[in-house]
Amino acid sequence: MRMILTGLPGAGKGTQAHLLAQFLELPHISTGDLFRQHIADRTELGQTAKTYIDSGELVPSAITVAMVRDRLGANDVASGFILDGFPRTVDQAMALDELLSDTLGPLDAVLDFTVSEQTVLDRMLARGRADDTDDVIRTRLRIYNEENEPLLHHYSSILFSIDAEGEVEDVHTRVVHALGERLSPSRPGTN
Ligand code: AMP
Repeated sequence: MRMILTGLPGAGKGTQAHLLAQFLELPHISTGDLFRQHIADRTELGQTAKTYIDSGELVPSAITVAMVRDRLGANDVASGFILDGFPRTVDQAMALDELLSDTLGPLDAVLDFTVSEQTVLDRMLARGRADDTDDVIRTRLRIYNEENEPLLHHYSSILFSIDAEGEVEDVHTRVVHALGERLSPSRPGTN
């Protein structure tokens, strides 16, 4: 099962991706985490990415797509993966589609976590990550609001909208329900 998770920054994608990855025994690939690891390791890519991340802007797609291509080249993605925070734009989505059609096969599902801006503000301020300051959050929300609708349109045929308000476990249950049919091994014509 190959899927991507989208939603406002702070919608709980990372938490849900982690739970779903455990449930499905698939790797959880978060571009935000990969960038933060590069920053911690003080790589050149990390230094470049940091300037964008600190301001809330997107890291240029050429850099991001190359990093994802590299990660999807590893052996552990053969039976599927959960991409969290990538793609964020239609041009990244097209690059991913092309990459997958050359290698692993098409995506099965896109989960869009819907939540109010007030909820994400509360969650981000509670989380307190370095890029969770007022003005950086505003920039990230603005970019999300510009980019996400065309992205969802691009994936409309495999889109699942998940209500991400409320408790972590409840949201996870909604995800499993939404995917229920796709997860069923007995459904003919799948796999
Ligand atoms: P996240 O952990 O998903 O909230 O991402 C943190 C930051 O990493 C974002 O604000 C961007 O600066 C950068 N980033 C993560 N994923 C992407 C992506 N797909 N394209 C560009 N920048 C990204």
